[in-house]
Amino acid sequence: MSRNNALISSVSVPTGRLQPEDSSSLACDGDGTSGKRVQVLFIHAPERDRYAEYLPYFKKWAADADKIFNASAAETGGVRHIRYVTEPNCSVSVLNVSVPAKTLEDFDATNRFLAHQGLNRLDRKYMIFADSRMYCGIGSFSNDDRPGPENRNNYGPSYGRTDFECWSGYAAAHELAHNLGAVNNSAPHSSKGGHCFDEWDIMCYEDGGLQNMQVMCPEGSRDGYLDCNHDDYYNTAPEPGSYLATHWNIADNQFLIADSSRLAPVSPLDDQSDSGGHFCIQPSFPSKSFERVQELVWIQRTSSASRMRLT
Ligand SMILES: [Zn+2]
Repeated sequence: MSRNNALISSVSVPTGRLQPEDSSSLACDGDGTSGKRVQVLFIHAPERDRYAEYLPYFKKWAADADKIFNASAAETGGVRHIRYVTEPNCSVSVLNVSVPAKTLEDFDATNRFLAHQGLNRLDRKYMIFADSRMYCGIGSFSNDDRPGPENRNNYGPSYGRTDFECWSGYAAAHELAHNLGAVNNSAPHSSKGGHCFDEWDIMCYEDGGLQNMQVMCPEGSRDGYLDCNHDDYYNTAPEPGSYLATHWNIADNQFLIADSSRLAPVSPLDDQSDSGGHFCIQPSFPSKSFERVQELVWIQRTSSASRMRLT
């Protein structure tokens, strides 16, 4: 198994309502378990289990992440839903996993522990809500820009983790986009650190790479969407010969569904989406604390409390 690179994120979460707020349904595909799926996990230290308290929110945030993928696909005339592991009633399956507190403090150690529990399937990407304050978000990513089904990002296991202070559909979508193969270094607006510099875009922020941010898509109208101008990693209908027609395009990822024929209503916490969220705000200072530990692995070890505030 090739080792994935881990990207720690200081994602910027919109303070207002989630931008793509129109559709309130997610795709319930097939039997809910077979084939390539995104499995949502709640992980926590053994002595503190808040699964019951937060379960409706995990489902809501998973649905919010789906909305982001589908609303962004609609910008290029397409349909994409996250193929989740779902329950028989079509709601998102959320597994409750207890992880030793010390293990929880480290992304790689946590992933090894999960793998030991069998949560390392080639046909699964794991969307993790961690009851921890170590990170905002962190996700594994394979810098593989080859188009076609053999791309490494078409396989699991991948781990995309969001910690308590950033729990939201927005942060989960950001980490899942890494897991699906965004943003490759060869992309026109790549930060060279797994992100992009053409704001506004869920995957764009100043990640410590050398690129200066440029606003190429208006703020507000699309800061809850993927891929400003759809030229770097996500386009359901790329122009022939364009970068995304000739390189990896996460819209082709087999963990997404290009079909809206079976949509299930989401149990609505709709009007609680703000009060229930724990949003992190991108710090007003540029993050300069990245340390390059090996090829394309960027580690940021500042305490989360100093980099985020809650709204
Ligand atoms: Zn990131």
